[in-house]
Amino acid sequence: MRKKIIAGNWKLNKTVSEALAFAEALAPLVAGKDGVDIVICPPYTALYSVSQAFQGTGVATAAQGLFWKPSGAYTSYVSAPLILDAGAKYVLIGHSETRGRFGVAEEGLTPDLLKAFGETDSGVNVKTHAALQAGLIPIVCIGETLAERKDGSTDAIVRDQVTKALDGVSSDLVRSQLIFAYEPVWAIGTGEVCAADEAGRVCGVVRKTIESLYGADVANAVRIQYGGSMKPDNAAELLAQEHIDGGLIGGASLKPADFAAIVAAA
Ligand code: PGA
Repeated sequence: MRKKIIAGNWKLNKTVSEALAFAEALAPLVAGKDGVDIVICPPYTALYSVSQAFQGTGVATAAQGLFWKPSGAYTSYVSAPLILDAGAKYVLIGHSETRGRFGVAEEGLTPDLLKAFGETDSGVNVKTHAALQAGLIPIVCIGETLAERKDGSTDAIVRDQVTKALDGVSSDLVRSQLIFAYEPVWAIGTGEVCAADEAGRVCGVVRKTIESLYGADVANAVRIQYGGSMKPDNAAELLAQEHIDGGLIGGASLKPADFAAIVAAA
């Protein structure tokens, strides 16, 4: 049995004091939930304080991204060793918003600006290596845009993103450390959730792809989350799917009660 993992991605939300108030409110709501891994991804500015606040509660933290070099003349970037030092255990890699693959939020962004987000498949791969080397657990996000879904290339896109993310990663590390999050871009922040059976089917495609690269043992060990408008009222159905081992939750992770309700559904 794969242990479920529920992660809340706050994106660009919450000051340090708001984040600390959330931590204080959430901890009693999820106390004793040892059967589920619980993760909060605050903005970098709150990562250290939130990690401290959750100490001893069973809630872990994640950074929302990383730069692949450990240190040096790289103004504005944050590396895996610094993220670990701030108290995080996980890191998101390849979120559609850092790949510049926005859903509805793209108004006002010119192609130039979108490109500036610029996380490519090869960038996702080097970051995955950097995270693993430092001892962080990568949550690698993949998923198709609405246009890709409409032209029938969902499965091919997902296979391609998984394969490129894993290039050169050892089977031991894939088995023991790596997590995937299938997030159809059109379902992120739109309120439009992917039907549970379809989300489960595509997560099955992710698993098959891992199996073709590393064999069934490794594929069956890897946890695959679904993300995209997961909420308290649809979480149980999504999480009941054979290949869905957790959720990556944006909007519904901003309120302790909503997030705790999703943890309770896992
Ligand atoms: P959402 O975001 O739950 O607000 O759709 C999910 C995500 O981007 O990880």
